[in-house]
Amino acid sequence: MGGVIAPVPRQISGRAPQGTPLYVHVPFCAAKCHYCDFFSVAAEGEDLEGAIDALLAEAAARAGPLPPTVFVGGGTPSLLDETQLTRLFEGLQSLIDFRSSALEVTVECNPESLDRRKAEHLLALGATRLSVGVQALDDGVLERFGRVHSAADALRGVEAARASGARVSTDLIYAYPGQTTDKWASDLSTLLDFELSHLSAYNLTYEEGTRFHRWLGEGKLAQLPDELELELFWMARRAATERGLDAYEVSNYASSGYECAHNIGYWRNGPYVGIGPGAVSHVGGVRAGNPRSIPPWRSGVDKGGVALAWSEGLGALEKLGETWWLGLRLAQGITPAEARAASGFEPDPARGPQADPALAIATRLVESGHLELRGERYRLTESGLPVADAVAAEFLRLTPGNLPA
Ligand code: SF4
Repeated sequence: MGGVIAPVPRQISGRAPQGTPLYVHVPFCAAKCHYCDFFSVAAEGEDLEGAIDALLAEAAARAGPLPPTVFVGGGTPSLLDETQLTRLFEGLQSLIDFRSSALEVTVECNPESLDRRKAEHLLALGATRLSVGVQALDDGVLERFGRVHSAADALRGVEAARASGARVSTDLIYAYPGQTTDKWASDLSTLLDFELSHLSAYNLTYEEGTRFHRWLGEGKLAQLPDELELELFWMARRAATERGLDAYEVSNYASSGYECAHNIGYWRNGPYVGIGPGAVSHVGGVRAGNPRSIPPWRSGVDKGGVALAWSEGLGALEKLGETWWLGLRLAQGITPAEARAASGFEPDPARGPQADPALAIATRLVESGHLELRGERYRLTESGLPVADAVAAEFLRLTPGNLPA
């Protein structure tokens, strides 16, 4: 994706309202992982200083003051050195005073660029939560993933984050080719022994454009059988809940009160501003994305602080479907009233019981056993959970031309 769109939608062109969550995308990594679909490039030879300047210029143009949450992701933000991190965080502080408002400031870190000193530095700058990318605890698997750290490095990184006093989350990937239940049990147990307050366990996906996708097509990788993937999914759930972490979202586990507030905002289809190349924003009912390439992003920002590659204004009906799609990922599920409030959808009373079209879909999914209704809340059932994406996608079909009968 290259060019920058014009004209920029009015909702996105100025500063977001006060209190809008902020996402900052640092697009550099030590190397590109073979499964990764996020926008990032290997840092070597890149202009990191210039990118920090551009992030701050974009924040000045678009970030709302006093955000409730900040998420600095990527890419690998921990790859920035202390001076660069200081410049980024102090710059954001002077623009939006996040230290006065944000109860949660997450920074994504990778083991090869995180030690205790950097973790403590991040906390001194205002971070409250460090999310450490572990992915696997087997050197052979890490190498196949294209990760640049070993399993021992990963454990050192987690320990450094914990020793700093930060809230710590770790990420693991499961259902990779060749994974066994024994290996998964051992990785989960080793990581959960750290008694961390948050764990994310993501099912490996083969995204188009990644090496893993190509290797799968060439027969160099073999996907695990569905039954084994399912078994690995339930193993993570059992292991995490046995250690006191609640499954608050399909792939995320936390001790009570340690859920990721920023991500919960996404799942509730709330607003946010995203800055940096490839970052997406959702402000004033418009969703828009920056170019997934550094040169057009920087030149757009240089010309006035805004660099969008695409935007879409969703109608209330599409937003209703999207809100169900996202909200069902949360363990607490969603009520029809919450979905209507978040989407701005107002049912037409003339349609009688069909006035809220999402209800017909939800009822059908209750009948098929994928959703359950408890009080007012619809939630995924045990058979719906492992196929959450497919179940929730039923709601994405809601358009004015495609209403359930
Ligand atoms: S470190 Fe993370 S963002 Fe960077 S390439 Fe690997 S998976 Fe992607």
